[in-house]
Amino acid sequence: MSGLLRRRTFLRPRELRGGYDVVIVGGGVNGLSLAYNLAAHHGIRDVAVLERAYLGAGASGRNTQVVRANYNTPETVPLYARSLELWRTLSQELDFNVQFSTQGELDLCHTADALEVERDKALLNRAFGVATEILTVEEVVRLQPLVDPSGGGELPVLGASYHPPGSFARHDSVVWGYASAATRLGVAIHEELRVVGLDVRDGRCRGVVVEGGRTVEADAVVLAVAGWTSELASTAGLALPITTHPLQAFVTEPYAHVLDGLVSSMDLYVYVSQTARGELLVGAEILPYTTYSTRSTFGFLAEASRRAIQILPFMARARAMRQWAGLCDMTPDSSPILGASELDGLYLMAGMGTWGFKGAPIFGRSMAELVATGRTPALIAPFAPGRFAADRMVPDAASAGTH
Ligand SMILES: Cc1cc2nc3c(=O)[nH]c(=O)nc-3n(C[C@H](O)[C@H](O)[C@H](O)COP(=O)(O)OP(=O)(O)OC[C@H]3O[C@@H](n4cnc5c(N)ncnc54)[C@H](O)[C@@H]3O)c2cc1C
Repeated sequence: MSGLLRRRTFLRPRELRGGYDVVIVGGGVNGLSLAYNLAAHHGIRDVAVLERAYLGAGASGRNTQVVRANYNTPETVPLYARSLELWRTLSQELDFNVQFSTQGELDLCHTADALEVERDKALLNRAFGVATEILTVEEVVRLQPLVDPSGGGELPVLGASYHPPGSFARHDSVVWGYASAATRLGVAIHEELRVVGLDVRDGRCRGVVVEGGRTVEADAVVLAVAGWTSELASTAGLALPITTHPLQAFVTEPYAHVLDGLVSSMDLYVYVSQTARGELLVGAEILPYTTYSTRSTFGFLAEASRRAIQILPFMARARAMRQWAGLCDMTPDSSPILGASELDGLYLMAGMGTWGFKGAPIFGRSMAELVATGRTPALIAPFAPGRFAADRMVPDAASAGTH
């Protein structure tokens, strides 16, 4: 059978069994990365991924594809730096082209405060071997001539931080790459199967309950359901500090390639890149209210366009083609929740906010090690679910694109 045929037919319907070694709830990039890593690196292949819709139906198929390591804390920088290393060889590892491309990230600063934050970030990044440097306005214009250094005549650029390793990967390809590789290793993926609760007996999570009331047992259950984590965890009496906020984006019609890398404004909260298909892709900050609605708004389109044109005036002639919204499961410290829950047998891979795409390779790798060995890898130890009760948060809102 040719490789192409094998990939196209990998999601054959399978019968749901009554039990598995590991059940992963959620077929987004994180649940699938975990499934792949369990099978590939720990030989745990008796794994089921239960997805209530289709693979990538959540934020994994709606994000703006940015991969970077220029975070702001001693805990997050090494975590995303390791993820970036894994990204570089992911296509070869999965035998699936995830269209990973390193083009650099330029973060413009229009205020002294923003520049100060970026200076501190650059120092911290370099202490962990992550390349981030501060540029003068002249260097910004030389690097990216399309930037208006006057900020639309209203908000002059004072400088910028530049992160050469800033990259992109095609989100759908990543989801399907992980799913395809996991399936080849024996993982069972079930779409259109909603988990409605956790099966808790004698103080331990022993499986999940799916639509229709059937129980699927497991030695370990991992919730990778983003904004629905609190809902499912509450069926076992667990309360989680996750709130779900919409994040929107839009693309223009496709144009000849003009823009390399990511250009963002740290003060205007807008970022622009150009996709491999030529569309100009524009994103902004999460919306301040909580909702499970993925309805797009005209207000976002108008405001994000205005901000984008302020830093990249050539965009005034571009025509918006499509906009969409996804949901971000935000935590109080804007860092992920990765680890064993207080309930035996239940693990959490949640609180993915605006960082869960770039982190997926290391999140999946580390969570697989924890589930397989019972030992928490040092890189994810600071992100344990218990950190909120213990008042040991990892505050990184500045990296998360939140106000
Ligand atoms: C517009 C936008 C732009 C973004 N840009 C970036 C970016 O540039 N870089 C970055 O790193 N991150 C970005 N993010 C965030 C990133 O997309 C997410 O953090 C990441 O995709 C989360 O992946 P996940 O697998 O944890 O969750 P999801 O992809 O949301 O997957 C969760 C899955 O669980 C399923 N599910 C829910 N409830 C149940 C249930 N009861 N039973 C079974 N299945 C269930 C859902 O259908 C869904 O498929 C962005 C997000 C958005 C919305």
